[in-house]
Amino acid sequence: MLPHSKIYVAGHNGLAGSAIWRELQRQGFTHLLGRRSSELDLAQTEAVDRFFETERPEYVFLAAAKVGGIKANNDFPGDFLFRNLAIQNNVIDAARRFGVRKLLFLGSSCIYPKLAPQPLKEEYLLTGPLEPTNEWYAIAKIAGIKLCQAYRRQHGCDFISAMPTNLYGPGDNYDTDGSHVVPGLIRRLHEAKVADAPVVTCWGTGTPLREFLHSDDLGRALVFLMRNYSEEQFINVGSGTDLPIRELAETVARVIGYHGEIRWDPTKPDGTPRKLMDSSRLRALGWRPEVPFEEGIAGAYQDFLARL
Ligand code: GDP
Repeated sequence: MLPHSKIYVAGHNGLAGSAIWRELQRQGFTHLLGRRSSELDLAQTEAVDRFFETERPEYVFLAAAKVGGIKANNDFPGDFLFRNLAIQNNVIDAARRFGVRKLLFLGSSCIYPKLAPQPLKEEYLLTGPLEPTNEWYAIAKIAGIKLCQAYRRQHGCDFISAMPTNLYGPGDNYDTDGSHVVPGLIRRLHEAKVADAPVVTCWGTGTPLREFLHSDDLGRALVFLMRNYSEEQFINVGSGTDLPIRELAETVARVIGYHGEIRWDPTKPDGTPRKLMDSSRLRALGWRPEVPFEEGIAGAYQDFLARL
């Protein structure tokens, strides 16, 4: 990529896309393209074709997707499967037909089998059944990886895929029902603090283990991969450490200054017991996460407050 290369970030307002955008700007790329979903519905093939035909991007980061936490995935399986297949099929195929030089498709760590050995290596894909609470999203993302690989084989397209672990950072979705656990807990514990509530109840048992990565670290990893990685095999992007949801809740409470009791509601789903990625292939290329966890959570809380 050259400083003036035309780079399209699909999903540039989302958690991942906005971090990619900031990193590209930081590195001096001047010709960035972004479209809000109200301007361009990526699930509409003709609209996507028109955009590619007119703008002719040279590089594409495909960070647009219908995303959500454990409840949203469970409640809207059709949307998670159909919209994600439509978006990625449209963008990846348009990239092929309109001569995009390189595309990076963004997946998720939920593509791995529910009970795969940990840490999760790239070769564990499709070795066992998926976690039921997010299998619809996972199936779409697996199809996206496969389409990039198939187009590489059949058409020689330089299309790569990266699988980030659970993300958090500025610009997250803080919706109570639809969000992932970090923004969900930020909102829940902030509201408990403001209401001076003696007890707050969080979902599940608090025992599942999750790995978290700040979106700024993801942005650095993805721009690095776009510049340095061109293999058929997708690549994991994780921080390398995980912690129980219970400890995450304690960290968030500490950052917010909530001193009440945290209770757990085991009638709500836990999801997969553990989801720690093996990111040694990416580390061997030279990338390292840089944002310390509690500092990152504090920054996310400031972002939440600013958006209130
Ligand atoms: P997952 O990693 O695909 O399971 O997605 P989430 O980020 O939505 O959930 C991670 C874990 O946090 C699950 O075990 C949830 O039950 C738990 N959890 C606890 N409180 C919350 C909350 O307020 N929101 C969400 N999304 N998850 C929560």
